[in-house]
Amino acid sequence: MPAARTDDSASAQGEPANGPDDARATSTGESDEHDAEEEAERPRGLRDPGTPSAAEIAEHNLTHIPSRPWCSHCVRGKSKDKKSLRLCGVYANNDVPRCRLDYCYLTENVEHVTADLGQEDATTADTSLTVLVMQESACRSVWAYAVEKKGGTEAWVVDQICEDLDTVGLRNDRIIVKNDQENSANDVAREVARCRASDYGTAVENSNVGDSNSNGTIERSIQDFEGQARTLRSALEERIAVPVRLNSPVIPWLVRHAACLITRCRIRPSGRTSYELMKGRRSNALLAEFGEVVHFKIPKTQHMPGKFEDVWSEGLWLGFNMRSAEHFIGTDVGVFRVSTVKRKPEDARWSAERIASLQGCPKQPVPGQASRRSPAYSRSFATRYQEG
Ligand SMILES: [Zn+2]
Repeated sequence: MPAARTDDSASAQGEPANGPDDARATSTGESDEHDAEEEAERPRGLRDPGTPSAAEIAEHNLTHIPSRPWCSHCVRGKSKDKKSLRLCGVYANNDVPRCRLDYCYLTENVEHVTADLGQEDATTADTSLTVLVMQESACRSVWAYAVEKKGGTEAWVVDQICEDLDTVGLRNDRIIVKNDQENSANDVAREVARCRASDYGTAVENSNVGDSNSNGTIERSIQDFEGQARTLRSALEERIAVPVRLNSPVIPWLVRHAACLITRCRIRPSGRTSYELMKGRRSNALLAEFGEVVHFKIPKTQHMPGKFEDVWSEGLWLGFNMRSAEHFIGTDVGVFRVSTVKRKPEDARWSAERIASLQGCPKQPVPGQASRRSPAYSRSFATRYQEG
């Protein structure tokens, strides 16, 4: 008897016109309210993100790429509400490499003020940071530069872009710098063209407003960059247990590092990362988490330590140099290049004080020095500033 009831109820589900109970009652000649309540549509639950192992989490925290559903920072920063469309076609198939530039703005509302009754709420101290994002078509690498304002007046950015194009391997290529019309990225594009003009060929080209594929490529890169920057900020905040605002001295480095991670870690539709396409091999540089305190070896320079002095020091890990695989180390006297770092035990890696007292930005890594290039670390910097 129970078997027959099950069969009948199954056929009854296909007949929405009759209630299932009615159908069963007629076919089996009995009505069993209790059994009817056992029937249920199979629920479709939300996706279980899974439970990663401690080792998986530690490895993921180094890059947050690819985005993982079990990582709260990835979800906060760059979770997508639907599968993103893969761009392909025109952009990839051009013979002449194209370099595309556009601006985006990182914004935050520092304080939300709840007003008195009858008045509207207000947001005070709305801040924003202007970021120039570059994407090139040869390797699909992404680069980001925190700038002070729009336009080509900041010489260091133009200089840095030219160097980064060299890093990509576009040294001897003719490239086309594309950008939206009516956009002050034009100014930067022209400056880059002029900077390269003597040795290489660079043409400035405006994409048509209606050219959605072409404009979509840089828009997609900007979205990727923004998501990665949000995720890194969220992760750092949790680590140091202090809010990380746009005016924090680590932000220009976080901007730079977010793009570097995308270039280095994201596997492209070709099956290889931009870094691999650029260098012809996988990156072997070792990573730490952004902003963690690491030991670094004091390089052998003329100011190297005496035999009885420390030969390692500590600083903030702010990323790696795509060109040389050296690390950027932040200290309270500037940001330096070093070649050897070691991680500290997990409970000694995070210091809000070190983050707050960081000096130097990509435009000027060591205050008082004109160059945008981070110098190799030397103790002379530390002592000079201590004495000064
Ligand atoms: Zn993550």
